[in-house]
Amino acid sequence: MVGTEDERPRILADSARPTPTTGADDVVAALVASTRAALDEAGRTLRDIAAVGCSAPGPLDHERGVVHVAPNIPGFENVPLAARLAAGLDGVPVFVDRDTIIAAIGEGAVGAARGVRDFVYVTVSTGVGGGIVAGGRIVRGATNTAGEIGHWPVALDGPPCGCGSFGCVEAFAGGHSLAERYGARDAGDVFRAADEGDERARGLVAGLESAMEALAVGLVNVLNPSLIVVGGGIAEHEPRHVLDPMRRGARERAFAVASAAVRIVPAALGADVGMIGAVVTARQRAAGRDPLSV
Ligand SMILES: [Zn+2]
Repeated sequence: MVGTEDERPRILADSARPTPTTGADDVVAALVASTRAALDEAGRTLRDIAAVGCSAPGPLDHERGVVHVAPNIPGFENVPLAARLAAGLDGVPVFVDRDTIIAAIGEGAVGAARGVRDFVYVTVSTGVGGGIVAGGRIVRGATNTAGEIGHWPVALDGPPCGCGSFGCVEAFAGGHSLAERYGARDAGDVFRAADEGDERARGLVAGLESAMEALAVGLVNVLNPSLIVVGGGIAEHEPRHVLDPMRRGARERAFAVASAAVRIVPAALGADVGMIGAVVTARQRAAGRDPLSV
């Protein structure tokens, strides 16, 4: 829960709880309970709230606030999340968008991409995702899945990916995939083993680096951004395996004129990016504006 009085949102209170895996009703109930708990902690009521922003996994319809499917939550299909949350929050308007788009909005409004009209937000975490901003507007595509750069294929015979395809960036660089391919609990174990000289771990980390390099070449050549903002836990903790290869790829393999125009930088908002982006989204859309317009 974040305050909206200032231009840059401030976090006044928060209330976190595990996402229920028992269906949409329980997820909606948990979100409503968290919102009310955070309001209590901040000494506010729903009457003080002009709008609510909600970051959700995609694919989803941001205009109608309907989440088509949440792969990790059984039974979460075509849920009218915005309407159901609004009903639980005394009718306060709720605006839903995809988590990586919300993050791009946060970084674009008050973070590392503030004032930049052509940028790509990339997150490298458990999974890999992103958001594309061109000419100051979010690129949505025909069905709002544009920017799913984790599923950009970077190998013709690469490993299978959770999306059903193979050779995707996420299959090489997502923390879940890295850990699973190595047989570790989490990606941190793979990086530690690589540092200690384990050949198999080093091979997987080299694959991650190659995938990030290829992704950067593709983004720079295809979209010609002036900035690529890279966030997420793996990017934050292992920048030499994520940002460095991206910079190398852009420098050595992309069109020279596009490469000279782009900077590749770490995200600025860290773990707060979802909450801050959600507030910016709610504030802008409640006023009838595009989330990144000023
Ligand atoms: Zn994929």
